[in-house]
Amino acid sequence: MLPILTIIGRPNVGKSTLFNDLTKTRAALVADIPGVTRDRQYGTGTFDDKSFIVIDTGGIEAENTSPLTELTHKQVEQAIDEATFILFLIDAKEGVTPTDEKIAAKLRNVSDKVIVLANKTDGEKDESSALEAYQLGFKKVFFISAKQRRGIKNFLTEILKDCTAETVQPKTNEITVTVIGRPNSGKSTLLNQMLGENRVMVSDIPGTTRDSIAVSFSYGKKNYLLIDTAGIRRRSRVHETLEKFSIVKTLEAINRAQVVCVLLDATEKVTEQDLKLIGMTLNLGKGVVILLNKMDALSGSDKKQLLNEIDRQLSFARYIPMYFISALKGTDVLKIYSGIQQVYRSATQAISTAKLNKALEMAVKKHQPPLVRGREVKCRYAHLGGHQPLKIIVHGTRVNNLPKAYQTYLQNHFRETFKLKGVPIQIECRE
Ligand code: GDP
Repeated sequence: MLPILTIIGRPNVGKSTLFNDLTKTRAALVADIPGVTRDRQYGTGTFDDKSFIVIDTGGIEAENTSPLTELTHKQVEQAIDEATFILFLIDAKEGVTPTDEKIAAKLRNVSDKVIVLANKTDGEKDESSALEAYQLGFKKVFFISAKQRRGIKNFLTEILKDCTAETVQPKTNEITVTVIGRPNSGKSTLLNQMLGENRVMVSDIPGTTRDSIAVSFSYGKKNYLLIDTAGIRRRSRVHETLEKFSIVKTLEAINRAQVVCVLLDATEKVTEQDLKLIGMTLNLGKGVVILLNKMDALSGSDKKQLLNEIDRQLSFARYIPMYFISALKGTDVLKIYSGIQQVYRSATQAISTAKLNKALEMAVKKHQPPLVRGREVKCRYAHLGGHQPLKIIVHGTRVNNLPKAYQTYLQNHFRETFKLKGVPIQIECRE
C-alpha cells in the first residue's frame, strides 16, 4: 500500500510550497464532482525509489476560512483517518500560535502519526523560535524550509525508512491493468464489455489496496489482472458515483498496475482533470493507453473538432497509444488489447547494455552534446537502471551538465530505437 502523507496546518505556513516540492509538480488532482467539496489536493511523489501519496488539506482554501472549521470538517477528518503520516506544518518564524495549539489538540489521539515540521527555518534565529515546536508535545519534530528545499530529505528518510521500495516484477505471467478516468467516463461500462464472457474470477485481495477489487481473465492467450476502481458490478443508483470516486483508490490502482488505461469522455472533450490523470500516471512511471470513449455519441463535425483538440492538448503524449471506442456499443474495444500489450512490452522488456550502448553511440554520432562552459561533454556508456519508471543511466564526463534539451533528445532517440510506446523514460546522468 502506498503511504499517504497528509499535510495539515493553518493558512500561510507553507502547505502548498511543501506539496509542490514533494510532488515535484503544481498539478494536483482535485475531486471534480459537483457537490463534493474541493478541499483536498492529491499528488504523488517518489523518494529513494519509494512512492507515496501526498494530500494537501488546505490547498484551495480561501484565506479567510478558519483552519478550525476546516479541521472539524468531515472531509478533513477523513483525510486524517486515511493518513499514514500527518505532516503538521507550523511557521517557525512565528513560533507556536494558539491556532497551532488547537490543531495539535485535534491531532492528539492520532499522535503517533504526527510529524511536526517547523517550516521557514531559514537561519539560526529561526531555529531558536522553531524549538517551540517541541511544546506541541509530539515526538517527531523536524526543521525545514520548504521554499529552500532544506530538511526535506531528512524527514522523508526518517518516515519512509520502514516502507519498502516497490519492486516491480518485470516479467510475470499476467499483465496488470487498470482503467481510470473521471466519474461517468464509462469505466464500469468498459470493464463489463472487456470482461464479457471472459470473467474467470472476482477476488478481493485484502491488504494490498484499499478495497479495490482485482479480477483475472484471459484474452487471446494472454492473462490479465484487472485492478478495478469503478466497481465492475453494475451499480443501480446514480448517487453511488459520489462514494465510488476516490482519488486515493485511483492512485493506488495506478501504482499496482503495469499498464494504465486512461478513459476520457469524448463528449466532454479533454478536460484538465484528464490531463492531470495522465500526468500523474506518467509521474509514477507507469505505461499509459489513452481511450476516448462514447465516440458513438459524436457527429462527424464533433469528431473533427475532437481530433483538433487532441492534437493541441495531448501533443506531449504523442508516444502514447490512443484508441477511439464506444464502450456502450463495444465498438473497437478489442483493439485496446494490442495497445495494452505494446505498452506492457515497452514497460517490462529487458534492454541489454550492449544495445543501449550502441543506441547511445548512434545518438551522439548524429548530434554531439553541446559544449558546457567551453568544455566537451562525453557520454561514454549507458545501461538500464530499472523498470517503471524505465530508467536509462548515462555515464560519462561532465554529463551532470548535460542540458535538458539534450536529455530530451536522448529520450526520443531511445524511444524510437527500442519502440518504447506509452511509457515515460527517465535519463539519469552519472559522472
Ligand atoms: P463510470 O462512472 O466511469 O464507471 O461510468 P459508467 O460506466 O457508469 O458510465 C456513465 C454513463 O455513460 C452511463 O450512463 C453509460 O451508459 C454511459 N456510457 C458509457 N460508455 C458509453 C459509450 O460508449 N457511449 C455512450 N453514448 N454512453 C456511454
